[in-house]
Amino acid sequence: MGKWQKRLLSVLALLLVVGTPLYYLLVLHSPKPEGSFVIDGARLRHLANSIPGEKPTEIRYERIFDFEFAEAMVMAGEPWKATPIPVYSYQLLTPTGRILVDTAMPRAMAKPEFMVPFYDDAAYERMQAALPRASLILLTHEHMDHIGGLAASPNFAQLLPALKLTKEQLDNPAGMKPAELPARLLQGYQPLEYDDMLAVAPGVVLVKSPGHTPGSQIVYVQRADGRELLLLGDVAWHRINIEKLRERPLFMTAMIGEDRAAVLNQFQALHDMEQSEPTVRLLPGHDGEVVRRLTAEGLLTAGFQE
Ligand SMILES: [Zn+2]
Repeated sequence: MGKWQKRLLSVLALLLVVGTPLYYLLVLHSPKPEGSFVIDGARLRHLANSIPGEKPTEIRYERIFDFEFAEAMVMAGEPWKATPIPVYSYQLLTPTGRILVDTAMPRAMAKPEFMVPFYDDAAYERMQAALPRASLILLTHEHMDHIGGLAASPNFAQLLPALKLTKEQLDNPAGMKPAELPARLLQGYQPLEYDDMLAVAPGVVLVKSPGHTPGSQIVYVQRADGRELLLLGDVAWHRINIEKLRERPLFMTAMIGEDRAAVLNQFQALHDMEQSEPTVRLLPGHDGEVVRRLTAEGLLTAGFQE
């Protein structure tokens, strides 16, 4: 074997020795949940009934666009196979008002590096038209694909009375980038502050769940007919994370700045809740299959109401 061949072999061996554990750590490994995060179903229901009035009769949604990720980006250890990451906005219809949850982002924000193969301009317009008519505007968290539509609203000042940003969301402008809220219009705005759970409307309760971002919260909805849903935001992008109790890979969570231990504890709590409270359905942030199933079951309805 020549000198250069030997050198090449040593370099390859070194790459293998260093690269294999590094690849395992960054792409394949997910730690086990270790701590505790509790979602108390009895308390959720108590709070859902603490504000008198009529609960939502329908949970409607618009699918505004899709990112395209690889399964390996969604859950550690999954293959490098393309998977859609559909982005939704939700509208809770009540007899006295409409509650909007999450606002996607405008097409202008969908730069090529974000891998957006599908964008429905008409759906985005319907969401924008619904914003000023909402009696309550809630955000599961402060990332661009949830807050971007709000930030780009031409009626932002008009939305302020209905807008319920939390203090943690408002305090994380870096997490919103490239979306940016108009600071001038937010002067004097009082964000929501609460401990772990807060009823915001009849049948609607916020559950603080920091981890994916500091301002993450789950929205519990109890409809007038008693059916229950947890809008998980991006605690989990896909259902499989909760099923298998496996986190996004480290290279993604490091990029996002996510608290993996906190998120894993939330997976555990949601996993446990599915066993103990099977009537409470879980809706991860970007899982088209779950949306299809819950639509077929009549828990969700496609398309906003004008
Ligand atoms: Zn998202």
